[in-house]
Amino acid sequence: MHSEITNPIDYAQDGRQTGHVAIPFSIDRSPYYQIRVPILRLKNGEGPSVLLMAGNHGDEYEGELHLGRLMRLLDVSKLRGAVTILPMANLPAVMAAKRSSPLDGGNLNRAFPGDPAGTPTARLAHFLEAQLFPAHDVVLDLHSGGTSMAHLPCTLIERQADAGRFQRSLDLMRAMGASHSFIADNGPAAPTSMGAAARSGTIGLSGEFGGGGTVTPQTMAFTAAAIDRLLVALGILESPVLSRGQVAAAGSPQLLSLSRHSQGIYAERRGWFEPAVPLGATVAAGDLAGWYHDLERLDETEEALHFVEGGIVISHRLHCDSRAGDCLIQVAEPIDG
Ligand SMILES: [Zn+2]
Repeated sequence: MHSEITNPIDYAQDGRQTGHVAIPFSIDRSPYYQIRVPILRLKNGEGPSVLLMAGNHGDEYEGELHLGRLMRLLDVSKLRGAVTILPMANLPAVMAAKRSSPLDGGNLNRAFPGDPAGTPTARLAHFLEAQLFPAHDVVLDLHSGGTSMAHLPCTLIERQADAGRFQRSLDLMRAMGASHSFIADNGPAAPTSMGAAARSGTIGLSGEFGGGGTVTPQTMAFTAAAIDRLLVALGILESPVLSRGQVAAAGSPQLLSLSRHSQGIYAERRGWFEPAVPLGATVAAGDLAGWYHDLERLDETEEALHFVEGGIVISHRLHCDSRAGDCLIQVAEPIDG
């Protein structure tokens, strides 16, 4: 009982089950403390099964808010198959409004495959990859740029070796209807949820649904439509639940690839970053990306930064104040489907 995660869900049971995945973590204030991660399971007979999760990073809110709302709205009698919802996966990070858990510094999306005897974040990662993910046909993990980054809203998958599952994930990503979708090449040992999904034999889908540690009407509508379209495409729902108004038919997304260090510009010293191009802009190698100011040496002209590779601007740093190693701006390469 001092380390093992307890899961209240019986996967075979029909109906509505709610509770908490409990992760024991002994602390000064509370020797038998448990991190209680909310979970909902709805099952109505045989059919497809999907795990919807958010709060992998605590400061990414489109998924957290919409999945909380979906927990209240979904009617088990109106669905076919099973939906499991984990709206705040790394709960301590969500409650601290941080990317990583303040309890152990753990960044859940770099913690897979995890460790059943490790820190709380490592144990959670192990539980997800070894137990929760394999119990579902599809896993959707909702991300955004987080507090420090603006991100072009897009859906995302990782390239994986299993050709059949890769094609299925590509088809489902298209069904989600984003105008930009990107394919990340992180390799089979990726410490991400998508790497975990590939290793656990399920279909992994993700996306960057906004950014900046906030939400907007646009990013919320984009996220609602993506979740609704996925649930309808899987045959779990007959009609949208989250979207206000009609959900337009999904168009064909521009596929993007992000696989090389040279697609980003990284800070090499302390400085203050000013972007020169907006998210979604199409740029060529050598184009101006932004300026790097030095507020400690005001007589120095700001440095012009140029893209090494062309493509579509998908993210940039929001905090002007930057240090060596910070990624300032990234482009993704448009590819054919
Ligand atoms: Zn994230």
